[in-house]
Amino acid sequence: MLRLFSALFLLFGLQRISASHWSYPDRDLNEAFPNWGGICDTGKRQSPINLSKDKSLKGVFDKLKFENFNERQNGVTLVNNGHSIVLSNFSKQMEVKGGPLLDEYVVEQLHLHWWSEHTINNMRYPLEVHIVSRNKRYANVSMATNFKEGLTVIGVLYHVSNERSEAIEQIIEHLQDVKDYEKLDQPAHMKQSFVVRQLFPKLNGYITYSGSLTTPSCAEAVTWIILSETFPVTLAQVDSFKDTHYEANKVLKSNYRDIQKSYNRPVIFVDDVVGAANHMQVSVGAIIFMFIAIKFM
Ligand SMILES: [Zn+2]
Repeated sequence: MLRLFSALFLLFGLQRISASHWSYPDRDLNEAFPNWGGICDTGKRQSPINLSKDKSLKGVFDKLKFENFNERQNGVTLVNNGHSIVLSNFSKQMEVKGGPLLDEYVVEQLHLHWWSEHTINNMRYPLEVHIVSRNKRYANVSMATNFKEGLTVIGVLYHVSNERSEAIEQIIEHLQDVKDYEKLDQPAHMKQSFVVRQLFPKLNGYITYSGSLTTPSCAEAVTWIILSETFPVTLAQVDSFKDTHYEANKVLKSNYRDIQKSYNRPVIFVDDVVGAANHMQVSVGAIIFMFIAIKFM
């Protein structure tokens, strides 16, 4: 009996270790990308993938809606989980709906990857933010991961620039509070309010496909929405994240997963995202009409 218990303890103990001890390769040392196990290695709808317009399908959907993304979020928490910097605990509920989504999704957290996970036309970007939302049908994220439509992740890519991203800078200002190994998994509170929409001040279409989480469990439960517009960040800003510790005296130099096989999955490019152009046309038309009307009065 004791032997059975110790065998079970060993089994579950090992599972716990393997679940929490996955890691990224040290790319400076040309380390091979590790096998994370399970569906991470065997799945056929894994992420990230390379996105290329000339191999994609044209899509037109209802307007994609981001609700409350312009709200000032207070008391947002910042955590170093050893794999990324994660922001959560938003004071005002944000939702994503429309576009390719058939259901409504609630924003749960956002986190960062340095360098980008998705590539566009085989080009990598210095930073990628993931805004993770859960389908309202499911009570929590772990339940949602059991369903193909369980999650949607908005991917925001940043390009190298001399211009800083002020939203990213706000996150960097709090890195000191969480970056050390002793602070792992301990939330720090952001002192100022944070506006999620400032991470992507423009909308200019998106690319959508069906894929997975890019970290273990690698659940194939994600409708990806990668914004076409990219935003400026400085290399110095990106470097700030590379001082995040994941073990004592070990820093997370990068946290992006290798590109996965697409298996000919449909990747859909959508140009018409906000309908802002239509509003513009209407208002320009109205102004011209007013001019004409005034002239003939
Ligand atoms: Zn991510």
